[in-house]
Amino acid sequence: MMSFAFDNSFARELPGFYVKWEPDRVPSPHLRYLNHALAEELRLDTRRQDAATLADMLSGNRLPEGAEPIAQAYAGHQFGRFSPQLGDGRALLIGEIMDCHDKRRDIAFKGSGPTPFARNGDGKAALGPMLREVLISEAMHALGIPTTRALAVVDTGETVRREKLLPGATLTRVAASHIRVGTFEYYAARGDHERVQRLADYTIARHDPELIGQKGRYLDFLGAVINRQAALVAQWMGVGFIHGVMNTDNMSISGETIDYGPCAFMEVYDPKAVFSSIDRHGRYAYQNQPSIVQWNLARLAESLLHLLADNEEDAVALASEAIASFDGRYQRYWLDVMRAKLGFDNRVPNGDDEDLALIEEWLALLQSNRVDFTLAWRHLADAAEGNPLPIRDLFADHFALDVWLKKWLARCATEEGRTHSDESRIAASTRANTMRRSNPWLIPRNHCVEDALSAASDENDFGPFEQLLNALKSPHKAHAEFVQFSKPAPASFTASYCTFCGT
Ligand code: AMP
Ligand code: MG
Repeated sequence: MMSFAFDNSFARELPGFYVKWEPDRVPSPHLRYLNHALAEELRLDTRRQDAATLADMLSGNRLPEGAEPIAQAYAGHQFGRFSPQLGDGRALLIGEIMDCHDKRRDIAFKGSGPTPFARNGDGKAALGPMLREVLISEAMHALGIPTTRALAVVDTGETVRREKLLPGATLTRVAASHIRVGTFEYYAARGDHERVQRLADYTIARHDPELIGQKGRYLDFLGAVINRQAALVAQWMGVGFIHGVMNTDNMSISGETIDYGPCAFMEVYDPKAVFSSIDRHGRYAYQNQPSIVQWNLARLAESLLHLLADNEEDAVALASEAIASFDGRYQRYWLDVMRAKLGFDNRVPNGDDEDLALIEEWLALLQSNRVDFTLAWRHLADAAEGNPLPIRDLFADHFALDVWLKKWLARCATEEGRTHSDESRIAASTRANTMRRSNPWLIPRNHCVEDALSAASDENDFGPFEQLLNALKSPHKAHAEFVQFSKPAPASFTASYCTFCGT
């Protein structure tokens, strides 16, 4: 049988931070998805293993040797309200392995049955939402955005009851770790300073080992998490990703995107865009994401207060300063993302204020013209190459667009510093190609995702899912074969599109 070289540091080093728990047996597991490329990264020899054995292993019916399944405890602020006990209600960490880059990765099941943290939940997952997690997390990975990954989806042969009966499934998730802001909050809320410190030491060793033994390491650790999150959310903003449920239990200390529940990609540019059915007040709307990250980081800082200084006053001052530093860090990352998208070389200095004004004008134009976010950026690359027709097609107000394009091209020209026409033509096509690497042609468009999922879940036809997944693996390159996935949804679809927590 395929072997996992488990080395389960969390289970070993943090007893008392979890409950040992076994996955449920499932009646007839069928492997529906296996990520061979990721398996290779994890040094798992999936290709020589038959599908039935893999389905058995990845459903929890026959755990691989060395697995030590545990349900982790965590708390969390959900929509701003603190829940002192959440925890893995339907997930299990089965172990950790070192990948081919010698990076430690968690292997976890989702939907493997209720744990002591399940409260009233059934502990199960439906096939559709698990395949959705595959599509969107793999798309994020292909877009170069840090994310948990999906190794496998097994149809369990059970039905789960949601608004109707649905096929059940387990997902195998791979993550740099599953330590969340809410993991720290769990112990801090109980006044268990000793465990907060042990968790911080473990997490530092795992994610920020350069800080081990350093003076002031807990403050530096907080700074490192702030930095990772600032970089992450800037990348989300660059592709129009809306997480949808940015509760502190869904924010990973490692800086990976985690918890693909009601997430969705924006179509028409709208800063207020929100798709989640339960986000009634738009707390997690597109434009609010950076400030929500900062709010969540403040909850982490509060949880770490006792470690930051000997007295509370100093600790609060240090924490506040660290949290305030988010603004500048985020702005820096966001400007880098936006400059790359505009085809500017981040190494060629230019006034931040001027670039900021140009970016804001562009975004205002996208909003007032109700333009598809992805296509607008993509067609800007064509304009960089001297073909403004595709971008003009997207806008109603051509006059305003032309005024802006002229300013933008003038800004591009400041980087060229050459006047010879051949050379500037070369520069233009190089710029256009560089822009295409920062401006995807494909994102997982909501209507395409829904079509693929309903074919799989309702009709047992996995063809559309596989085709879409395949397309999303190279999002920056236009393929005639996948052109149907590049087109925006009808406005009526997006207007009524609503996502649900991935249950
Ligand atoms: P989420 O909103 O998905 O991050 O989940 C919040 C909490 O609810 C976590 O503690 C989950 O483990 C738990 N949970 C979500 N769905 C279920 C379910 N079907 N059964 C048991 N627990 C669940
Ligand atoms: Mg969650």
